[in-house]
Amino acid sequence: MRKNIVAGNWKMNKTLQEGLELAKELNSALSGKTTNCDVIIGTPFIHLASVASAIDTKHIGVAAQNCADKASGAYTGEVSAAMVKSTGAEYVILGHSERREYYSETSEILNSKVALALENGLTPIYCCGEALEVRNANTQNDFVKTQLDETIFNLSADDFKKIVIAYEPIWAIGTGVTASTEQAQEMLAFIRSLIAAKFGKEIAENTSILYGGSCNAKNAAELFSQPDIDGGLIGGASLKAADFLTIINAF
Ligand code: 13P
Repeated sequence: MRKNIVAGNWKMNKTLQEGLELAKELNSALSGKTTNCDVIIGTPFIHLASVASAIDTKHIGVAAQNCADKASGAYTGEVSAAMVKSTGAEYVILGHSERREYYSETSEILNSKVALALENGLTPIYCCGEALEVRNANTQNDFVKTQLDETIFNLSADDFKKIVIAYEPIWAIGTGVTASTEQAQEMLAFIRSLIAAKFGKEIAENTSILYGGSCNAKNAAELFSQPDIDGGLIGGASLKAADFLTIINAF
């Protein structure tokens, strides 16, 4: 059966000291407790190793927010999937709309990143989602299908099984405008139907699909009660331990 997951994406927030403090606070709140979901924190690169060694990674998984599209070599400033893995991180967020928009990440680049992440034993948390114009034109299903077709639907079934998907409509990210529970459920059910058509029903039923975009301590329980919503990718509300813990406990 698929896993419920609550993953935080800290984005470009928190100094190393602040990040360690938050990670340790979450760690002490969660250690020895049973939760109904896997908990992941997506930290900046420079925090990864310290955070992974400061917490019990049995309770909290660590994610990078990106990795390079090249394996190694003369790419100044880049961080490879192998380097991410060597910190103790087990996940990598890929294809976030902020990376697609501000850092021109194309499907071709994402193909390389996903492949390198998988080769290095990282679980990609693959993000997709449409802009407001697309939603207003009611073409969001086609848009998301194309994103999936061009990036992760070309994987082998064995590789695809390792992927977590996060649907994050751009108009809901950081805006305080959450997709309605119906809009989120409808899109996640649509994504699951696409997976079933491509890889079969069993793989579709076992793929964790998360919702992201202004998911917070107040709306998480309702979102997570939906049959196809297996958790959340949380931005702003993952920066405070109390809010993030409320979201984790919404399962
Ligand atoms: P917010 O939760 O701040 O809207 O961000 C969502 C997001 O982009 C997580 O990756």
